Amino acid sequence: MANSQYEYVKSYEIPDPLMPNTFAVIRVDGHAFTKFCHAHQFEKPNDIRALDLMNRAAKAVMQEFPDIVLAFGESDEYSFLMRRDASVYGRRRSKINSTVASIFTSNYVFYWNEFFPNTPLRYPPTFDSRVVLYPTAKEVRDYFSWRQVDTHINNLHNTCYWALRHDGESGTEATKLLEGTFSDNKNELLFTRFKVNYNNLPEYFKKGSVLVRTDPRLTKGPSKRDVPLSQCTETSGPTEPSGSAIAEADLSAPSLPGPESPAVAKKKERKKKPLKPFDGRSGPITILHTDIIKEKPFWEERPWLLE
Ligand code: ATP
Ligand code: ATP
Ligand code: MG
Ligand code: MG
Ligand code: MG
Ligand code: MG
Repeated sequence: MANSQYEYVKSYEIPDPLMPNTFAVIRVDGHAFTKFCHAHQFEKPNDIRALDLMNRAAKAVMQEFPDIVLAFGESDEYSFLMRRDASVYGRRRSKINSTVASIFTSNYVFYWNEFFPNTPLRYPPTFDSRVVLYPTAKEVRDYFSWRQVDTHINNLHNTCYWALRHDGESGTEATKLLEGTFSDNKNELLFTRFKVNYNNLPEYFKKGSVLVRTDPRLTKGPSKRDVPLSQCTETSGPTEPSGSAIAEADLSAPSLPGPESPAVAKKKERKKKPLKPFDGRSGPITILHTDIIKEKPFWEERPWLLE
C-alpha cells in the first residue's frame, strides 16, 4: 500500500520494549472496588464468589500468555509473573500491559453471571494495570512475599473489623477499636470477644490464590498440597505423552521384525530424544492457597518459575 502524506505520524510511536532478560510482573487492581463491592453486596470480609471470579479471569490471562508462569491474587488484585525469556509482542510494554488488563476485565465481566447468578451487574467494572521489571530472582521472590504479607495483614484487619461491625459496632467505633493495634492484639480480640482462632480460618483468605501450571508428563499428578478447583484446572495446549505412556508403547511394539506403523515409529523417535525440562509454559493450570514466602516447598518444587 502506498504511503500517505499523513503516515509520518506513525514515527511518533516510540518503541517501548521491556528490558531484555528481566522478569516482568504485571499487576491488575480493581478500580474503586470499595464502591463496586458495596454496589454488588459482596459478603464481608471475604466474598468467595468474587475471589473465584478473580481466579477465573486470571486463568484466562494465563491461557492467553504461556510466558506467564505464575499468578498471585488477593482482594481485587492479581499479579502475573512473565518469564524473562518471553518474546511475546516483541516485549512491547504497552501492548502487553493493555492486553493483560483487557483480557482480565473482559473475562471478569464475561463470567460474572456464572459466579453471581443472582446479582445483576449494575455497571461495568474496570481494572488498572502496571508492569514492573525485576532484575533477579531475589526481587521476584520478595515481590510475591510482599503481596502475600499484605494479604495476611489485610485479612486479619478486615476479619476483626467485620466481626466488630456484625456485632453491632459502628464503622467509626470499629475503626477506633483497631487503631494502633498489632497482630497479636487482633488475634487476641478475635479469640476473646468472638471465640475465633485466626489460624483456623480458610487458607484461601489468609494466603490468597496462586495459579501455576503442573507438568502434564507427571504421572502422579498434582501434590496433595495442590487444591485444584474444577473451574481452574484445564489442560491448555498440546500435552506431551507421560513417561509411563512411552513405556507402555514400547511393550506393545511388535517383537518380530516387520513393517512398523507410523505411530510406533513416532513413539520410538520421541523416546530417543530426552524429554525437555518443564518450563511452566504448558499443562493444566492449578490453583493453590499456600505459603509463597518460604523457599520450601513452593519454590523448591518449581525451579522453572525463576529461570
Ligand atoms: P483503587 O481504585 O485505588 O484501587 P479501591 O477502592 O479498589 O481503590 P483497594 O485498596 O484496591 O481500593 O481495595 C479493594 C477493596 O475491595 C477493599 O476494601 C477490599 O476489602 C474489597 N474487596 C475486594 N475483593 C473482595 C472480596 N472478594 N470480598 C469482599 N471485599 C472485597
Ligand atoms: P492485532 O491483534 O494485531 O490488532 P487484528 O486481527 O485485530 O490483529 P487489525 O489490523 O487490528 O488486526 O485489523 C482488524 C480487522 O478487523 C481487519 O481485518 C478489519 O477489516 C476487521 N474489522 C474491524 N472492524 C470491522 C467491522 N466493523 N466490520 C468488518 N470488519 C471489521
Ligand atoms: Mg488501584
Ligand atoms: Mg482497587
Ligand atoms: Mg486492591
Ligand atoms: Mg486489532
